[in-house]
Amino acid sequence: MRGTVLDRVRALIERLAPDAVCDDCITDRLSLTIRQHANHKTRELAGSAGFERQLGACALCGAAKKVIRKKGR
Ligand SMILES: [Zn+2]
Repeated sequence: MRGTVLDRVRALIERLAPDAVCDDCITDRLSLTIRQHANHKTRELAGSAGFERQLGACALCGAAKKVIRKKGR
């Protein structure tokens, strides 16, 4: 398995940009364990530059929930 979980989460979000994705879909797509749950990672990313976490529609499951996306340039 290449890279850290955070790297993989970041790569997935960047691949989906400018669409937003929810934690559950990230967890599902990357087959993360409960301990690695995407929630911790997206919160970490949202605290760094270039990503924003907000209430919105997930591009993958269509649900309106907390999603994260890469900010446009
Ligand atoms: Zn989703």
